[in-house]
Amino acid sequence: MDAPFPGGVCGGGESGETLFLIKPGELMLKGDNRPVFMRALRRNLRAMLAGIPHRLEDRHCRIYLHAGPGHAEEAARRLRRFIGISGFARPVACSRDLDAMEEAASRIARACLASGKGPAYKIHVHRADKTYPLDSYAIACEIGSRLGRRFPELKARMKDPAWVLHMEIREQVFSYAFAEEGERGLPVGVAGKGILLLSGGIDSPVAGYLMAKRGLRPTCVYFHSHPYTGPQARKKAETLAGILAGRIGRLDLHIVPFTDIQVKIRERAPSAETTLHSRACMMRIASLLAQRKKANSLVTGESLAQVASQTAESLRYTGSHSSLPVFRPLIGMAKEEIIAIARKIGTFETSILPYEDCCSVFSPRHPLIKPKFDAIRASFERLDIEEDLLRALKAAEVLGFSGETG
Ligand code: ATP
Ligand code: MG
Repeated sequence: MDAPFPGGVCGGGESGETLFLIKPGELMLKGDNRPVFMRALRRNLRAMLAGIPHRLEDRHCRIYLHAGPGHAEEAARRLRRFIGISGFARPVACSRDLDAMEEAASRIARACLASGKGPAYKIHVHRADKTYPLDSYAIACEIGSRLGRRFPELKARMKDPAWVLHMEIREQVFSYAFAEEGERGLPVGVAGKGILLLSGGIDSPVAGYLMAKRGLRPTCVYFHSHPYTGPQARKKAETLAGILAGRIGRLDLHIVPFTDIQVKIRERAPSAETTLHSRACMMRIASLLAQRKKANSLVTGESLAQVASQTAESLRYTGSHSSLPVFRPLIGMAKEEIIAIARKIGTFETSILPYEDCCSVFSPRHPLIKPKFDAIRASFERLDIEEDLLRALKAAEVLGFSGETG
C-alpha cells in the first residue's frame, strides 16, 4: 500500500489510480479573482506533475488529482513542496449512501487502530453540499453509532482526540483521517513575473522562493565571470535554479557573461566603488531583461547591512538603476532565519559549496559603505558602459528547468 491510510475509490479502486483531495491555499480569500487564481493553480499543478500520468478535476473549492498506478508517492512528494495549496489528503471516496459512508469510515477506523493511533477519535463532517438531507451533526451521530457497533473499543472524544475522521459531503463523500500540510501562499504567476538575480549564494534562492509564494513567477539571471569564476560556480546557479523549479513548476535561467563589464569597471572606477558599480550593472541588465520578458519587478537576496553594498545608501544607489520595484524580501531578516529557510527548501547544501562568485573575485579591500549619491552616479556615467550591458545581455545563454527537477 502506498499511503499510510487507505486511499482510492471505496470498494477496491480497481483502476489502480490514487485520488488526492487538494485544498487550495490563500486564493479562497480572494473573491472575484478566484477563477483566475484557480486557473493558475491548475496550470502550475500540471507543470509540476510533468512525467506523472494524472487527471485533474476541480469542483467547489477543491482539486481532485487522480495519479496513475505506481505514481502516488512521487505525486505526494511533489505536492508537499508545491506552492499555493494549504494541504492535501488521500481520501476514501464513496457514494452519499449511509451504508457506503459506514464502509468508508470503517476502513479508516481499522487502519487507525491497526497503526496504534489509539481509540479516542472524533468525527468532523463538512457538508459542502447543503442540499444533503441530513445535517452535519446528524451525519456524525449516525456514522459514530455505526462505528461504535463495529469497533466497540472506539471512544468518541471531542477534546484532544488521537485522530479525527474527516468526512466531506460533496457530489461524493470523501473521508480521511490523515492530511498533509501544503506550502500555502498564492499560486505562482498570479502576481506576474519578476527577474530574480540569482547568485550561487545562500540568500538569493530564498528571496526567489519567498516572492514566488506571493505569486511572483521568477525568471532567473546569473552573472558569470568566466574565467575568473570556474564552471562549478556556474553549475551552482544552475543547480539552485533546478531546485527552485521543483517548487515553482518551471523557470528559465539566463546566464549573462559579465567578465568584460567587471574588467572595465576595475579599469575605470576607483577601487572602493567597484562592487557598487558591478551591482548597478546587474540591476541595469536585469531591468533590460525585465522589459523583454514583460516582468514587473526585480528580486534580490539583499539584507540590510549584511555587507557594504547592502547599507541604505548603497541600496539607494544600486536600486536607482532600475525604474521597476526591487523586491528584497530578506531585507529585515537575520542570517540564521535565512539559513533556516534555505535548509527547508533544499538549497543550503548547494549554496555553501566553496566556489567563488564573481563578486568575491573582484571585491575591493575597502569598499565604500556610504556612497554619496550624486558623486557615485556621476562616477557611473564616466564608465560609459551602456553598450557593454546590451552586448552582455545579447550574449546570454538561456536554460529551462521544469518541475521534475529539484
Ligand atoms: P547571495 O547569498 O544571494 O549571493 P550575498 O549575501 O552573497 O547574497 P551579495 O553578493 O552582496 O550578497 O549579492 C547581493 C545580491 O545581488 C544577491 O542576493 C543577488 O540577488 C545579487 N547577485 C550577486 N551576485 C550575483 C550574480 N553573480 N548573479 C546574479 N545575481 C547576483
Ligand atoms: Mg553572493
